[in-house]
Amino acid sequence: MTGLDYKKIYDSEDFKETYLHEREDFGAMYSKEETVFRVWAPFAEQVEICLYHTGTEEEEGAGFIEKRFMIQIEKGLWQCTVPGDWDGTYYTYRVEKEGRVTECIDPYAKACGANGQRGMVVNLKTTNPSGWDKDANWRQMCPDTVIYELHVKDFSYHKDSGVKPEYRGKYLAFTQKGTKGAKKQKRIGRGSTGLDYLKSLGITHVHLLPAFDYASVDEIGLEEQFNWGYDPMNYNIPEGSYATDARRGEVRIREFKQMVQALHSAGIGVVMDVVYNHTWSAEKSSFQTLAPYYYYRQREDGELSNGSACGNETASERKMFRQYMVQSVLYWAREYHIDGFRFDLMGLHDTQTMNEIRRELDKAFPNKKILVYGEPWIADQSPMEEGFYPAVKKNVEKLDEQIGIFCDDTRDAIKGSVFLEEEPGFVNGKTGMEKAIASSVGAWCDGSEGWKPVAPSQLITYVSAHDNFTLWDKLVLTSDKKAEFREKREDILAMNRMCAGIVFTCMGTPFFQAGEEFARTKNGDENSYQSSPEINCLDWARKEEYEELVDYYRGLIGLRSQIAFYKDKSIQAVKRLHFIKMEKQVVEFTIDNGYGNGELWDMLYIVYNANGENYLTELPEGQWQTLADGEGADKWKRGFFKKAEPSVSGKVTITPKSIAVFGKKV
Ligand code: CA
Repeated sequence: MTGLDYKKIYDSEDFKETYLHEREDFGAMYSKEETVFRVWAPFAEQVEICLYHTGTEEEEGAGFIEKRFMIQIEKGLWQCTVPGDWDGTYYTYRVEKEGRVTECIDPYAKACGANGQRGMVVNLKTTNPSGWDKDANWRQMCPDTVIYELHVKDFSYHKDSGVKPEYRGKYLAFTQKGTKGAKKQKRIGRGSTGLDYLKSLGITHVHLLPAFDYASVDEIGLEEQFNWGYDPMNYNIPEGSYATDARRGEVRIREFKQMVQALHSAGIGVVMDVVYNHTWSAEKSSFQTLAPYYYYRQREDGELSNGSACGNETASERKMFRQYMVQSVLYWAREYHIDGFRFDLMGLHDTQTMNEIRRELDKAFPNKKILVYGEPWIADQSPMEEGFYPAVKKNVEKLDEQIGIFCDDTRDAIKGSVFLEEEPGFVNGKTGMEKAIASSVGAWCDGSEGWKPVAPSQLITYVSAHDNFTLWDKLVLTSDKKAEFREKREDILAMNRMCAGIVFTCMGTPFFQAGEEFARTKNGDENSYQSSPEINCLDWARKEEYEELVDYYRGLIGLRSQIAFYKDKSIQAVKRLHFIKMEKQVVEFTIDNGYGNGELWDMLYIVYNANGENYLTELPEGQWQTLADGEGADKWKRGFFKKAEPSVSGKVTITPKSIAVFGKKV
């Protein structure tokens, strides 16, 4: 049968009525007495379950145990119950169709052997670290989220990470407390690395680049391998190269949970980067073996479309795949206590699917606001079925108020386009950007660019992520062509502080790439997805070199957490913003921060000066306190603790390339 033959069948009402099954119990359902295997393979003539001692043929103790025929219990639904305790046994499905037999992993597998070739039956209870029950009660209470985007290997690969060598690049690196950099630090609070450092920064969530099982790294190969991991293999299993033993299926599960537990103990939530929009290969994927063409979006001619620009794209509008996505997300939230999901190329998913994910998460976790956000764009043409809307920026209004989108308009307005290397933004010299910056502050709820969020809660504000240049590199490239990426320059530092100052005073949820706060550089590598770990990893020595910039970020995060306005992401809150000036590379505005709950400051006055010179402005009537300026972002703390901060009034000077925040009681 061709792709077109399949498409006609999948589009038919008859197929939709008889072959689609709404149920949650797919995969290997373990108990001590028996394991039930259940899989969906609508056109298979025969399916067998094969049991093995190991995850691959190339390891010690390898060998075939037995195979059994599965029975079709409903149309397309195959099942086999194998009596006995099979915990730790590896398995595959053998699917016979049109005279061909293909062996594949269970797409619902919860554990697997090295490199994800075979699933593993697992007693999940035995994978829980001690105290895991208590972790289940962990709740992220902070309504003002600050997201830190981090790659598991980047976090601890560097020799100065202070993490013990056997944990470097692994999940377990997050469990080590008390790590320090190489340099002796005098000032209290400085010098920390690893988990302690994350805690000191004040971020509320760590967002991990793909940590489910991906294909591009040989899990039993050399430690020098590196990939971001946007090539999904097994959606419901942690990646094996971050585990201390990739061969034993239960190890990566336990260690992943230990990582989550450690972050939770430090008061930090965990967001997973999920890449349901395509699979590393369609041809070799178990989806394609079990239900040819079903899980993938098809063009009119029946062939696979490629909206991801990675060879294929999945079809969220098809019921069994939508159900797969919803259940996969729920599984991570329940089993691994995950606190948020970031959807890669969310524009390839339909808005109905995204809203259903939001609804199901809220239903399953009524007391915990699990984050849902994603990239509201696609990478290439995508023929989504009629009647469905892609979750792209222009359709943001069709998304739930609690589904966020990365805001490329804000990102590019602040520091320049990600596609044009030398093009600057507001901070680094582009003129005429004042209105775009004001819109960024108000989370684009003014609809000025032809799209309009339901509320500021839908916006993720950022100037750097794993894609494209790091913020530092972009600032270097736009400031002086001859600049060295590793040169410490005051002018670039000022612009870096200013970018952060804007991000943290916008209404949307602040997000930044790990290391942005210590001038992370990849030496101008714009797309480091498979560059060396040396290029990619967090340089902990650089963190010590740029501690003052770190302090600035820490100050901004702390200040933001003290302002009620930034916790209010309702559409009504936008009315509390009042713009005074938007011209000549200056943006000035006030925020009505009086919520009647004993706020530290009822009114805020904020100035962005992108000029290369001082800017003189006049504060509205009254005595103001300087909370942050170009020099320091922790000035608010002085008044906070001593209540004796000298006040300012009337004319104030805003230094070149800086932001200033003033606050006053009414
Ligand atoms: Ca893998």
